[in-house]
Amino acid sequence: LLFRSAALLALFFPVHSQASGEPHIRLEPLTSDRWRVTWQLERPAARLRFARAANFFREKQWQVITPGYALEREAESQLLVLQSGATPQQQIVAEFDVYTEPMIKEYQAFVRFTDGGLLVYTGHLYLHDVADESAYASPDQTPNLTTLDVQLPAGAQAVVRGRVHANAFRWDTGAEGDGTFIYFGASEPLETDHLLAVVDSGIPAWLRQRALDLLPRLFDDYRRRFGLQLPWKPLVFLAYDASDRPGYSMVGGALAGLLQMQISGPAWAKKSAEAGQRFDYLLAHEAAHFWNGQLAEYRDIEESWMHEGSADAMAWTALHELGQVEGEELRRQRSEAINQCFFGLGDRPLRGAAARGHFHQFYTCGHLLALWTGAALARSGAPVDLFGFWHALVERARQDPGGRYDQSDYFDLLREFGVDSRSRRAMRALVEATGPAKFAAARAGMLHAGLRLSTVPGPPDPAWTHRLARALVEHLLSQACGRYSFNGSETRFVSRPIENCPLLNRELVIEQVAETPLDDIEVAWRRVNRACRAGRTVRLGTASDSVAVACQAPPPARPPRFSLHGAATVGPDATGSLPARQPGAISASQNCRDFRDPVAVLECVSSLRGHPPASTLVGFSTPGGFFQSWRDTASGRTSGFAKAPRMSGVASFLPS
Ligand SMILES: [Zn+2]
Repeated sequence: LLFRSAALLALFFPVHSQASGEPHIRLEPLTSDRWRVTWQLERPAARLRFARAANFFREKQWQVITPGYALEREAESQLLVLQSGATPQQQIVAEFDVYTEPMIKEYQAFVRFTDGGLLVYTGHLYLHDVADESAYASPDQTPNLTTLDVQLPAGAQAVVRGRVHANAFRWDTGAEGDGTFIYFGASEPLETDHLLAVVDSGIPAWLRQRALDLLPRLFDDYRRRFGLQLPWKPLVFLAYDASDRPGYSMVGGALAGLLQMQISGPAWAKKSAEAGQRFDYLLAHEAAHFWNGQLAEYRDIEESWMHEGSADAMAWTALHELGQVEGEELRRQRSEAINQCFFGLGDRPLRGAAARGHFHQFYTCGHLLALWTGAALARSGAPVDLFGFWHALVERARQDPGGRYDQSDYFDLLREFGVDSRSRRAMRALVEATGPAKFAAARAGMLHAGLRLSTVPGPPDPAWTHRLARALVEHLLSQACGRYSFNGSETRFVSRPIENCPLLNRELVIEQVAETPLDDIEVAWRRVNRACRAGRTVRLGTASDSVAVACQAPPPARPPRFSLHGAATVGPDATGSLPARQPGAISASQNCRDFRDPVAVLECVSSLRGHPPASTLVGFSTPGGFFQSWRDTASGRTSGFAKAPRMSGVASFLPS
C-alpha cells in the first residue's frame, strides 16, 4: 500500500530526476503475488501499442491504474488508449497479479519456482507510441520502449542475460524484440565461465544434483565440438512444478541466449533410470539448440529436420561421450529413430510432415539424416564432423542478411565438403521422394556412407510390436467403416463408437485380429495380409467378443525393422580416420590473436586494414592440417574446402 500511494503521488507531482526523466519501463514487485509496471514516456501519449498482443491476456489479468487510460483492441493488436476527455500522460501505470497459466503460442507471463523464485517475461511489457508508427515501414520496425528499470523483491537477487544482480538495476534491452526472462529469487545460480544456470531448489534432489552435474559438462562439450563462440553466456532456467500432472511432463521455450524449462508432476520425484535418461535427453537436446538453432534460423518449417534431427543426434552423442548413456543404449536410440522414421513416413516424403501434423518425424528422420551426414562427411575425408558441419552452416547463414539457411545450403555445403552426389541424392530422396522404394535406397545410401543396417527378425521389441499392432488395427477399422477412433497402449486398444457404421456403433476392446493375439504381431500381420488379399473377412476384438470385418485391401507395406551396427558415428573422431577438430588451434596475427574463430580472425584483420575483403577465408584447423575455402562476400557461396599449409600469417590470406 505504501508503494502504491508513493507512485500515485509521483503521478500528480512528476519528479524530474534523471531516473524518471529518460524514457524507460519500471518494473517493481508490490507483494509476492502482485507487480507494477510504469511506462515513463518521451512525451504524453494517447495511443500505445504493445509489442505482443499475447492472446489479449492483459484484458483479464491487468489493471490500468493511471486514470483516463484503458486497454483496447485494434485488429490483432493490443493497445493502451486515452479515453475521450482525459488528459494524455507522460507516465502510465498498470498492475497485475502473478499469472502462471501457459499461453497458446506465447511466452508464459510468469513461471513460478517451487522454491519461491519467479521468472518474469519482459516481452509483455514492451510497447511503443502509435503516433511514431507513420515514420516506419511497418509496426514491427517501430522501436519499443526498451530500457528497463528493475526493482527487486526483498531478499531476492535477479538473473538476466547471463548476469546476476544483487540490487535494483537499469538495463537497455536494445533492439531485442522478443524480450527475455528475468529470474527473481534467492536460489544461488550455478555459474561457470561458459554457463549460468538457475535450478529450482524445490526440484527433486536427485534431479537437481543431476542437472548441476550434467549442465556444465554438456555446455563445455558442445562448445568444444561446435567451435563456435556464443555471443552471450548461455542462461538456463529450470523450474519444477509439483502439481499432479501425470507422466513426465515438461514445457519450455528458448529465447536468444536463454533456455527456460519447467518439469511437472510427481513422476519425476521417483529416481529411476528411465526418468534420468529422459531428463538428460531434454537438457541435451535443448542445449544443442543454443548453437544449431539460435545463431542461425531455418527458412521453412518443412525443413525442420535439419535442426531438430541434428539436436537429437548431437544430444545422444554428447550424452554417450559424457558417460550418461551406454554404447548399447546409444545404438538402440539411433536404431529406434531410424525405425520410427521409416515406419512413420510410409509412402510419404518427409517434406510435408508439418502440414500433416507429424512434426515428430522431423526428429526421427532428422536424427537419421544427421547420422548419415556425419558418416558421409567422414567417408569423404571432410575435415569436419557433424558439429563442424553445423559450424560451417551457421557461418554461411550469417552471410545471409536475415541470418537464415535452408535445405539447399545444407546440400551445397555437403558438396563443398566433398560428399559425393550419390550420397546427396539418396539423402534428398528421403526428404522429397514418394513411395516405399526410398527405404531400400536410403539403406543402400547409408551403407555407402559406412552406416550398416541389418534387418532384425527378433527378439520382440515392445515399441515395434505396438507400432505394428496399431497400424494393423487402424487398417482394419478403416476397412470396416472408412473411419476410426481408438486409443490404447502396447497391444490392447479400445475402439470408440463410430456413427453411421452399424458394425462398430459400440465400444469394442481389441486384443486380437484373425484369431491371433496382437502380441504375436508377425503372425497376425501375415494372416490379415493373406485374408485381405483374398477378400475374406477378418475377426477383430477379443476371444469372447469380436466383429467380422470384410477386408478388401491388404494392410500397407511396412518397412523392415532395422538395427544399426557397430559404433555409428556423427563424426570422424569416433571412426579413427580423422582426429577431432581443435578449435582455437589457429595462430593469428598479433593484433587479432584473441579470436579463436577463423572467420572472426579474418574480420578482425580486414577491419584493421580498413576495408572488407571481397572474399572471406573460412577454415578449420585439425591436427591433420588446416582446411580452408574462400567465400565470396557478395554471393555468400563457398568454393570447395582444400587442405592448406598451416596458417601462419592471416594477412596473406586476404585478397589484395
Ligand atoms: Zn528441438
